[in-house]
Amino acid sequence: MNPNPKLKGQSALVTGANSGIGKAVAISLANDGANVVVNYVAHPEDAQAVVDTIKANGGNAIALQADVSNETQVKAMFQEMYKAFGTIDILVNNAGLQQDSPFEKMTLAQWQLVINVNLTGQFLCAREAVIEFLRRGPVPERSRATGKIICMSSVHEVIPWGGHVNYATSKGGIMMLMKSMAQELAPKKIRVNSIGPGAIQTPINTSAWSTPEALNSLLTLIPYNRIGEPEDIGNLAAWLASDESDYITGTTVFCDGGMTLYPGFSTNG
Ligand code: NAD
Repeated sequence: MNPNPKLKGQSALVTGANSGIGKAVAISLANDGANVVVNYVAHPEDAQAVVDTIKANGGNAIALQADVSNETQVKAMFQEMYKAFGTIDILVNNAGLQQDSPFEKMTLAQWQLVINVNLTGQFLCAREAVIEFLRRGPVPERSRATGKIICMSSVHEVIPWGGHVNYATSKGGIMMLMKSMAQELAPKKIRVNSIGPGAIQTPINTSAWSTPEALNSLLTLIPYNRIGEPEDIGNLAAWLASDESDYITGTTVFCDGGMTLYPGFSTNG
């Protein structure tokens, strides 16, 4: 491990960290010196495997269960975190899911599940983190910012997505949640930003890359001509959480191989 890592002594909570992007973010933050809470809602064995990987790399982590859309469970998780690590410096609001459906067949349950987890879950966790940032105040020897929040959004905060209206709506909502929090909390030295992943190879989108035909079709949307890897997002999250990005707040950083460049227009229009 780096002897002077950029997140040394800081404590981070990553939601939905037992799979895909969240797992890579948790490992990346820990490799940069943060104590990490690996949140999970199901499959504790996967969360423990992430903790074991972090410890094998010389880092420090614990696994905590909570459904991010459940206020009581979220509050209890933060209290458990404070017992283990004392406070929180970095929140990565990553947990998310899809419930896809043609619009006219979308049930209220599908709509509400996606909004509850993807959007309300980010509100509930961010509110707990901000309460602690404000209570504790700045700790200049750890970071120039009093606290950092990173929201996992998507290219679908700006690209409409038919068949996934609930998901795209949740990500559009995250954009204004992030920007409004950033505006309100900047004077308190709390930085709030989003990451907008493009197509990253994880279990959430297996059907988009698991056959050669699906992958080739997907690649027509990606000018950089490769699918993203969870580590692409992990590296970016560690940088956005660090003082190297101290003057950045209220921004979505797209990490998408150019998906938001509207490649359909490269030879037309
Ligand atoms: P994933 O399915 O591998 O991971 C999602 C994680 O969220 C899992 O650990 C899951 O258990 C957890 N989760 C779901 N509901 C939860 C709840 N109620 N409480 C706590 N945790 C819960 O998928 P991923 O691709 O790693 O997705 C992570 C985030 O990245 C999501 O917010 C997703 O929308 C976003 N994203 C992914 C992609 C992509 O291409 N993979 C693109 C854009 C955005």
